[in-house]
Amino acid sequence: MADGNRQFAREWSFGEARLGWATAARSSLWARCACGREAAVDPKPWLAQGLSRQTLHDLEHRLRCACGARRAQLEIRGLAEAPGGGAGGIHVFR
Ligand SMILES: [Zn+2]
Repeated sequence: MADGNRQFAREWSFGEARLGWATAARSSLWARCACGREAAVDPKPWLAQGLSRQTLHDLEHRLRCACGARRAQLEIRGLAEAPGGGAGGIHVFR
């Protein structure tokens, strides 16, 4: 089950990740929706609200996807892992 493995890996590597980690050099914040969209997320609005110590999990419900979903999975990725063009459609809602 690819989905089960991915969930398992995510919980171990990213489940406790904090928003502030996304500001590390060569790191970026990404959202992935169940519909398949992936988008880079700018953490600045959240950092401005003093949320840098929030876990990514606690921020996922603040995202909105173009498909209508009211949450998306957040991940911190190294720049080398970021996909090329075509990503988008997910934005910070609040
Ligand atoms: Zn979506």
